[in-house]
Amino acid sequence: MSDGAETLFERIIAGEVPADVVYQDETTFAFRDIRPQARVHVLVVPKKRYRNLGELAAADPQLLADVALTARRVAELEGVLESGYRVVFNTGDDAGQTVFHVHAHVLGGEPLGLFGA
Ligand code: 5GP
Repeated sequence: MSDGAETLFERIIAGEVPADVVYQDETTFAFRDIRPQARVHVLVVPKKRYRNLGELAAADPQLLADVALTARRVAELEGVLESGYRVVFNTGDDAGQTVFHVHAHVLGGEPLGLFGA
């Protein structure tokens, strides 16, 4: 990380900001989105901060794999492994990224529309 500014998600991981935690392990942390866009909407983050998916993938592919496996674990815990779920990484302004600590949105629990605004 080149810019050291703390984001909201470091504070959530540290327990300084309350969150509805779904799962955590040594390297990843999963909690419900405060403004759910589907019946299941959980955010999965690596505990170590990278700004976005590309930075994470370049710097630590194993940690990216950990995030993917935690997304699957969340889907299992939320009962949507069989019905299906979507994993989204917003990257940059046009995609609507607001928190610059890479996070996977895990969405499911109902039929999801196609991509768009
Ligand atoms: P982004 O827009 O960066 O892809 O996703 C950031 C997500 O963080 C949004 O979906 C937003 O609802 C969620 N969020 C923002 N503030 C909080 C908060 O204080 N707690 C939780 N649990 N989620 C938050």
